[in-house]
Parts: sequence; structure tokens; C-alpha cells
Amino acid sequence: MSVRRLVPGTFLRRVWHLVSHTGSIEVVDLQAASRALILRATDDPRVAGFVRRHGLRLGASRFVAGETLDDCVAVLRSLQDRGFLTNTTLLGERVTEEAAVRRTVEAYQEVLERLQRQGLWTYLSVKLSQLGLDVGEEVSYRSLRTLVARAAEQGRFVRIDMEESWRVDATLRTYRRLRSEGYDNVGVVLQSYLYRSEEDLRQLLPLRPHVRIVKGAYLEPPSVAFPRKADVDRNYRRLLEVAFLGGATVAVATHDERMHAHTVEFTRRHGIPPDAFQFQMLYGVRPRLQENLLARGYRVLVATPYGPDWYRYFMRRLAERPANVAFLLRNLLRR
Ligand SMILES: Cc1cc2nc3c(=O)[nH]c(=O)nc-3n(C[C@H](O)[C@H](O)[C@H](O)COP(=O)(O)OP(=O)(O)OC[C@H]3O[C@@H](n4cnc5c(N)ncnc54)[C@H](O)[C@@H]3O)c2cc1C
Repeated sequence: MSVRRLVPGTFLRRVWHLVSHTGSIEVVDLQAASRALILRATDDPRVAGFVRRHGLRLGASRFVAGETLDDCVAVLRSLQDRGFLTNTTLLGERVTEEAAVRRTVEAYQEVLERLQRQGLWTYLSVKLSQLGLDVGEEVSYRSLRTLVARAAEQGRFVRIDMEESWRVDATLRTYRRLRSEGYDNVGVVLQSYLYRSEEDLRQLLPLRPHVRIVKGAYLEPPSVAFPRKADVDRNYRRLLEVAFLGGATVAVATHDERMHAHTVEFTRRHGIPPDAFQFQMLYGVRPRLQENLLARGYRVLVATPYGPDWYRYFMRRLAERPANVAFLLRNLLRR
């Protein structure tokens, strides 16, 4: 059956073309081109309709620990029993109605109680745009504070994910506000593709923050983000070093072995013990690498999201690796 007949619009056909005709295209260009193509196509209603209908079967289930809290709890239990740290996220973002925000907060409250009952150490990783940032910064602040306060009572941590660049100021303001109210069980994320991140990090260091360092998963213009992967990687190392030397508690969130090696070498050289930081990776991405780091005695957290609203999360995972699209297309053709 031809891809042309099965796939709506031009997007996946163009990606398929890129993936299957690598002969004259440099791998690095292919990656950048397919990444941009997929992230741009995420807002196309035909692509969204198609992927939402078929995506779970065609590959999304690899990255998502099920659609229900029950599914997710079973995965979290198994990861914890094997020695991994975990966090979880009820998938969803860009919520624009206050009623939906309230439902999200209630759902997260249920998650917290369930984790507590089940003896899971899992922490929450949440997105402000799901907690009402697009309704108003005060709305998302209050939603988050409700969760952070309950998590604090349980001795649990909450991480605020970082989203699109135009949300960074509000996200950092929210983080600072919680810290100024005495909530120390909250952490933040910085993205190495943004030019501004090193300065943001330096401004945060006096707070001795818990900071997760990532490369960045959204489509950003060259006016705010390094277009070349080599620069994103170089800045990743830089942010790690500044964070470690500045006394932050660092989460090295990447599947890039070169960054892991750099972390190991740098922390050894500076006498920073392995239990002072953690590696973080995504559920379903490079599981053998996760096992290897754990076996070497490092703390490894597996970020384990769940929920029916997995579409945007899945598209970002596809964008990160062209082979994931090839995998999806192969599944499609096998049907
Ligand atoms: C725990 C965690 C939390 C995150 N939180 C945020 C956040 O709050 N905000 C944000 O913008 N981004 C976040 N990200 C995503 C991050 O920004 C990157 O998009 C993602 O981690 C891919 O980049 P990489 O660091 O793994 O490096 P890359 O250089 O892209 O990849 C390194 C290696 O891992 C493989 N790999 C990477 N991604 C995948 C994948 N999806 N499937 C299969 N193989 C893959 C690559 O093929 C390559 O071999 C988070 C990532 C992690 C691990």
C-alpha cells in the first residue's frame, strides 16, 4: 500500500522522502530539516487528526506509560523496583479554559494521593500552560502552588517544565515566586538551545536551584535559539559546568552519551559526588542506556508521562529522531 494513499497532507510524505533518500543529504541537515518539518506540522489539523487516530498503535505507546493513572502506576512501580527514580506528567498543554485547568489540578491532586498510598517516590513534572498560563499567569501560579503545597506535605518534589521561549519569563517568575514563599520542593528547567539560558542560570544561582538542563524540544527561531546542533551541544556543556560550579542541584536530562561522559568527567574532576546529581531520560527512549548508567551506580530518573492527550508530546519525540518517523511509517505500511 502506498504511503501517498495512507498519509494525509504532504507532511509525512516529505519526511518519508527525507528519511529514505539520505544519499545526498548530510545527516545533520536531515535531522534539522525533519525536526522543523514535524514540529511545524504538529499544528496541522489533518496531521493531528490522523496521528491522534492511529498514533498510539503506530508508536506513541512506546513513549507514553498508558492513557490512565492505573497504567502509569504499574509502570512507575516496576521502574522503582528496578532502582530508577521517576517523575510523572499528566499529558496536556495549552489549556485555555478555567474549568479545564481546575480539572487538571484535581487530576494531579488525585495523582499525588495515589502515589502516596502506593509508596511511590515519583515526583511531578508539570507544564504551566496546562495549569492555566494562557488563561492568566495568576491562574497558573495558584494552580501550581496548590500542587506544590500538597507535594511539600508529602515530602515530594515538583518540577516546572520549560515550554516555548515566549513562556520563559513567566515560568521563571513563577518559580521565583514559589521560592520566595518558602517552597524549596520546586525546580525549574533551562534549555541549551536558547541564547538567554546561561544568563538565566546565573541569575538563578543565588537561590541554589534544582535545575534540569535540556537541549530544548520546541521550534524556535534563530533570533532566540541556536540553529546549529553543535552550538546547542556546546551550550549544554557550558550550562552543566556553570550549574555544577554554582552549587545548583543538577538534573542532566539528555540521551546524549557525550553529555553523560562530560558530566562524569567534569564532576569527578571537581570532586562532585555521583549522588549530588542525577541523569534523566524519557520513558521509552534509549532504555539500555538508562540501564547501563544505573548499573554503573548513577542516579537515573525515567520521566514517565501518561494520559490520553499525548499528541504534542509524541510529535516532539518523533521530531527528535528521524528514525522514529521511519518506525511509524513502517508500522503504517505493515497494517
Ligand atoms: C527527562 C527529560 C525532561 C525534559 N524536559 C524538557 C522540558 O521541560 N522542556 C524542553 O524543551 N525539553 C525537555 N526535554 C526534551 C529535550 O529538550 C530534548 O528534546 C530531548 O531530550 C532530545 O534531545 P537529547 O538531549 O536526548 O539529545 P540529542 O542529541 O537529540 O539525542 C541524543 C541521542 O539520543 C537519541 N534520541 C534523542 N531523542 C530521542 C527520541 N525521542 N527517540 C529515540 N532516540 C532519541 C538520539 O538519536 C541520539 O542518539 C526533556 C528531556 C528529558 C530527557
